[in-house]
Amino acid sequence: MLILVLNCGSSSLRAAVVDHASGKRVARARVERIGEAGSEVAYDDDPAAKLVAKNHEEALAEVLPALIGRAGDAQLAGIGHRVVHGGERFTQPVRIDEDVERAIAELVPLAPLHNPANLAGIVAARRLLPALPHVAVFDTAFHGTLPPRARHYAVDAELAKKHGVRRYGFHGTSHAFVAARAAVHLDAPLSNLRLITCHLGNGASVCAIEYGRSVETSMGMTPLEGLVMGTRSGDLDVGAALHIGRAEGLDYDGLDTLLNKKSGLAGLSGAGNDLRDIEDRAAKGDERARLAIHVFCHRLRKYIGAYAAVLGGLDAIVFTGGIGQNSALVRHRVARNLQIFGAHLDEDANREARATAEKPVIRISTDTSRAHVLVVATDEEHAIAADTAKLVGGQDKVVSKRIPIAISARHIHLRQETVETLFGPGHKLTPLKDLSQPGQYACAEMLEVVGPKRSISGVRVLGPVRPVDQVEISRTDEFFLGVDAPVRDSGDVRGSPGIKLVGPHGSVTLEQGVICARRHIHMAPEDADHFGVSDGDVVEVAIDSEGRDLVFGDVLIRVSPKFCLEMHVDTDEANAAELKPKDEGALVATGALATPLRRVLR
Ligand code: ADP
Repeated sequence: MLILVLNCGSSSLRAAVVDHASGKRVARARVERIGEAGSEVAYDDDPAAKLVAKNHEEALAEVLPALIGRAGDAQLAGIGHRVVHGGERFTQPVRIDEDVERAIAELVPLAPLHNPANLAGIVAARRLLPALPHVAVFDTAFHGTLPPRARHYAVDAELAKKHGVRRYGFHGTSHAFVAARAAVHLDAPLSNLRLITCHLGNGASVCAIEYGRSVETSMGMTPLEGLVMGTRSGDLDVGAALHIGRAEGLDYDGLDTLLNKKSGLAGLSGAGNDLRDIEDRAAKGDERARLAIHVFCHRLRKYIGAYAAVLGGLDAIVFTGGIGQNSALVRHRVARNLQIFGAHLDEDANREARATAEKPVIRISTDTSRAHVLVVATDEEHAIAADTAKLVGGQDKVVSKRIPIAISARHIHLRQETVETLFGPGHKLTPLKDLSQPGQYACAEMLEVVGPKRSISGVRVLGPVRPVDQVEISRTDEFFLGVDAPVRDSGDVRGSPGIKLVGPHGSVTLEQGVICARRHIHMAPEDADHFGVSDGDVVEVAIDSEGRDLVFGDVLIRVSPKFCLEMHVDTDEANAAELKPKDEGALVATGALATPLRRVLR
């Protein structure tokens, strides 16, 4: 499928016709200085064409036909637009209609520098090519899975809600793309990997990806937070900003310019924002240039250490972006002292490594390194094309089947050995009532669950016995018991906390096994075909409940011939959403970033 990918900045525009599967560019154009007297447009085969464009629409009116002409007879299947901020609402790529256009406009206050230009491109391209499907792919979307603890700033909660003040994260398309590439290279499913991806370009951010989901990232409400960047300060004591503002008589706009445009590598080094120049100067003895590199690398190493603790382990660190893909010096400095996380750099491999489109993944860790260190070429245009193709391709499918919703109360799965410790030697679980999933039943047996703070008695055991012990609780139970349980797929207890179980015969203290179950849909392979999804996909589900407009994001698909179609949510979510027995849902989006990417990269 050929997709036109558009990325509009305030005075520039990049457009490319991209093959969604291979990522190959069929044609490309880049326009600079839109709105000025002599705008410039460069095509691959005509690098210095002339153009007069007062605005994005005029630029696109010239560039789009030229690109489509260069694509020859091949038909475009759709247009993918990069949009920086998707706010609370957009955690997946979405087909653009009037409503979506309006919503992107409403998000302008959150991204005043970026969203207006993205929107200008969307409006102009839809007017010029109205017959084609247009899709918005958001930089923030991949971080829609950030848990509340990572999403919130510790400020007045009502003010934060009123003004949309929370951490959104950016560079999501790139983090998802390089994570998918790393997983393919490591020949492991993303759902088995704990990754730290470092996107180091002019803007820079780092992301902790736990089994395929972004759980922490260094950029926050705006792209200013986190790492040292080309011209942005990254983390800074807000008190310091206030002090500079007062002392220098700067107003808010003045501070904005100082921290976004005149800080970072440029501010520290006094030698511009290009790391190549700074590295050269440092090598000639320039103290400020050296300090800039020291601060840049120290900040990143600090984040990697923190994120390894957030993830509770580390399978790979990925470097990407102009700096990550090219600077052996930065990678070498950042990787020092990461041996405690099992990451050992192969210095020879690091020195040589330059990730490119031709050689997109290079391993720079030693053969015995427990955690891999990879240099991976990012390709946001390819990622946007893949996401767009996924939505455009699914358009004709009639997805009609409704999904029954079941509310799961807290429960326990046990191994036979644990059953015998708790209920006595030779004890067999007593089936009480069949559950909707074939072969599963509630048992007569109940247990007391003892947490660090309180205990809950009468917790139902479900049968049959399983290979691992697992206690599934709600988020409210988590705080009642005083245990810190991760949101996980059932059966995945890696790194979860343990707990004490007390039965009539004896007690056990599990080393791990307490989870809050992630929202999921059980389905048989025929249902998966019907919905056009596969095991491990992540989707959105709209709920029909008395005419209320409610969508659950981040719903995991689980496919097995043993399953019947049913979505499971826990009691807290059901209460919050005021769900009632017999409520049903409908699949509304099937495009979680990493999933389709992984398929095309295979
Ligand atoms: P953007 O965020 O604008 O897309 P890029 O990902 O292209 O930025 O990264 C730009 C940065 O990469 C610049 O700071 C540039 O100096 C740096 N860079 C590119 N090549 C090298 C290199 N060989 N050595 C060090 N830094 C490099």
